[in-house]
Amino acid sequence: DCEGIVSNLESALEENNLNEDVQVVRTGCFGFCEKGPVVKMVPDNTFYVEVTPDDAGELVLEHLVKGRKVERLLYIDPDTKERISDSKHMGFYKKQYRIALRNCGFIDPENIDEYIARDGYAAMGKILESMTPEEATAIIKESGLRGRGGGGFPTGLKWEFTRKAQADKKYVVCNADEGDPGAFMDRSILEGDPHSVLEAMAICGFCIGADTGLIYIRAEYPLAINRLKTAINQAREYGLIGKDILGTGFNFDVEIRLGAGAFVCGEETALIHSMEGLRGEPTVKPPFPAEKGYNGKPTNVNNVETFANIPPIILKGSKWFSEIGTEKSKGTKVFALAGKVNNVGLIEVPMGITLREVIFDIGGGIKGGKKFKAVQTGGPSGGCLTEKHLDIPIDYENLLQCGSMMGSGGMIVMDEDDCMVSVAKFYLDFTVEESCGKCAPCRIGNKRLYEMLDKISLGKSSEEDLGMLRNLANVIKDTSLCGLGQTSPNPVLSTMDNFHEEYLAHVADGK
Ligand code: SF4
Repeated sequence: DCEGIVSNLESALEENNLNEDVQVVRTGCFGFCEKGPVVKMVPDNTFYVEVTPDDAGELVLEHLVKGRKVERLLYIDPDTKERISDSKHMGFYKKQYRIALRNCGFIDPENIDEYIARDGYAAMGKILESMTPEEATAIIKESGLRGRGGGGFPTGLKWEFTRKAQADKKYVVCNADEGDPGAFMDRSILEGDPHSVLEAMAICGFCIGADTGLIYIRAEYPLAINRLKTAINQAREYGLIGKDILGTGFNFDVEIRLGAGAFVCGEETALIHSMEGLRGEPTVKPPFPAEKGYNGKPTNVNNVETFANIPPIILKGSKWFSEIGTEKSKGTKVFALAGKVNNVGLIEVPMGITLREVIFDIGGGIKGGKKFKAVQTGGPSGGCLTEKHLDIPIDYENLLQCGSMMGSGGMIVMDEDDCMVSVAKFYLDFTVEESCGKCAPCRIGNKRLYEMLDKISLGKSSEEDLGMLRNLANVIKDTSLCGLGQTSPNPVLSTMDNFHEEYLAHVADGK
């Protein structure tokens, strides 16, 4: 559809002799997936939604030639039924705060000039010109930025560990192995703003003393890979990565490594092994990658969203960033909002916003006017939260305390029709498939846990089996080697805690 829209817009511009004055620019994702494809007219910022190739001629004739908005393609406010032309006034965007997604939907990701026009590579220029690695690392530390891939480890501290490690060679790795079901945050950033990640990796390289950056990205993301390749070539041409960057003597180049799509390779030691050509299996830490990572050398691994936050922090300062969010979770978080919600899409919100605001104000409430039942945050490693959690401010600590986790940003909403035992089974099935098999609790334990859950869902179990289910889930949590196994029982445990009556009903069914 999008290609059809572009080519029909270009033809209509030509027919109306506007092709010299008006440009059609392909951008990355606007985030409002529910209402796509979107065409935005600039400079007046009219936001047309659900556009089809057949609408292109009318858009050009009415909007550009006659200067009239095409009312039928404007967004309709679900409450007031008014048509809204500027995205700033739409519920979906009003409470968002875009830092990592600042350029997505604004620039042509295949044109480095557009990135530069929006302060691109200015942060790198600033630190290369006027700062020491220690000073630049201190800004990231003071900002309070924490890893957005799931763990939430302080980014500046991680950089400092790698900087202090002594070695003749160090690496910066970007983890773009996003694998949670329903999650597409990193993909959208790479498709919409690949230079932000390259710039941040170079900044990290400068801070830790590395001259090589590696982006580990799953091969199922062909558009993101192509845009990254284009961005790398352009940045090399402009002398913004490569040898002697900006004449400062700093060398830093970036290569892409393709992953085969194993969920466990999102874990940093497994990711590193996979890049080394070994089986993608985690190893016990310590040693941490900061000390002994890729090819045995100190390696700093951050995910795509973490990197995308770096350039604005360097440019605007740690104070600016640390004033956004909560006491221990600074800045914003990108979520892929999916499931039974009216406005499915990619959103970026300040930490501390509540689940209610995300689901009802931004997400527009539950599809078909049904009742909200639960929301799964943190993907297969997270848990199901309920009505009673809707007003809790979202941050790393609060989500953990409620039995879930931030994870990388998957957020799947469920309504009154969803069976929570089936939801737990769905996530566990995913984990069983994705377990690398290295340690017994995860390899065997999760299989047995799934079988028990399956029997419960079919009404073939007794109430006593629920106790065994919980025991086994806790053993897997406590004894698995890596984060995948340690968190895999979370969907089971959180649904048992929050929807115990549903488990009892399944058990009773079997009597
Ligand atoms: Fe592999 Fe699972 Fe053990 Fe992690 S917990 S090492 S994924 S078997």
